Amino acid sequence: MECDRLAKAYWNSCTTSDSWIPNRGFADEGWSVWIDGKKLTRIDKHALYDHVFSRRTKAYWSKKNNLMPELITTMNWDACQHALKQLPFGKRRWLLKHATGFCGVGKMEKIQGNQDHAKCPRCGQFEDASHIARCRGDGTDVVFEVAVQKVELKMGKSFTAPAILSALGTCICQWRKHSKGQTTDQETRLPRYRRHDEWGTQAAVAAQDKISWYNLLLGRMSHKWSDAQQKYLESLGKRTTGRRWTIAIISKLWDITWDMWQHRNHIKHNTLHPQKNLVMDSIAIRVNDLYKQGSARLLLRDKPLFQKSLETLKTGTYIEQEQWITSVLLANHRAEAAKTKRPASMSTEPSLMESWLGIIHETEEVTTAN
Ligand SMILES: [Zn+2]
Repeated sequence: MECDRLAKAYWNSCTTSDSWIPNRGFADEGWSVWIDGKKLTRIDKHALYDHVFSRRTKAYWSKKNNLMPELITTMNWDACQHALKQLPFGKRRWLLKHATGFCGVGKMEKIQGNQDHAKCPRCGQFEDASHIARCRGDGTDVVFEVAVQKVELKMGKSFTAPAILSALGTCICQWRKHSKGQTTDQETRLPRYRRHDEWGTQAAVAAQDKISWYNLLLGRMSHKWSDAQQKYLESLGKRTTGRRWTIAIISKLWDITWDMWQHRNHIKHNTLHPQKNLVMDSIAIRVNDLYKQGSARLLLRDKPLFQKSLETLKTGTYIEQEQWITSVLLANHRAEAAKTKRPASMSTEPSLMESWLGIIHETEEVTTAN
């Protein structure tokens, strides 16, 4: 009985109801749980958690990220939750700390007395959590571009509508370009997205504009992305759903900020821990393997990726080598798409890697070089 009284008091303190409803449990029940005057027939911990915390959680994020309450419901929280569950524990903890802003950035390090300034180790500007992806310090452009290309590469293999992939890549890059020097609570306005397609990409971009593109990097996608992708998948006769696609792309979007965070820490601490050594070893092996495959299968426009010798490529930083790998994989995808006459979903914008290699596109090639 005491347990029942405490439980009831707790629920009442967490909900809007101030009235005390007398217990009406059966004699053999130790305690019972009531929500809005209705007794639960079974205890569903997820439903209970939602009931107790959802209002408070929504209010928190609404204030934290300057989100109007009505926008909260336009985000795909269900997909976000499922993607979060699939993350390894360490990365999940990093993400939650990053999303709340209580992570080891300059702002928090100063507040906690660990250092006497809040400056970014890469560019020297004020560093809050959102600065990690916005930073324009040395090397950040390449890291960010590679990270976005990795999303394109992964999701291009998951039957993502080319228009959706292109819109996401373009808008994410525009967000970074236009948000220079801004902090978490400042809004970044992007140029209007004008392309039309039959899937509803334009509506998804407009909805994400309201939610903000920084929120997209935190995995907060408008429902309209999933709706648009669902239409595309149905047109292909695929059984997979827009919901599964959304869960997959959210974890890839988190990787953009994760890569920027890793780069930031590498600059700050300049240490090579065992995990980093492993990554660098695997990059070297991948460069070797891809170089051995050569450029025979590639489109003419992509062949210059192989114009430098393997030895020269290996003198690049691990970030440059990683971008070369990503660029070659994208080139393979473009060649494959051209062969099967599928629309190439990969970006056709010249990349920083192409600039580094000195590649100039004088004509647009549409045929394979076979
Ligand atoms: Zn910076």
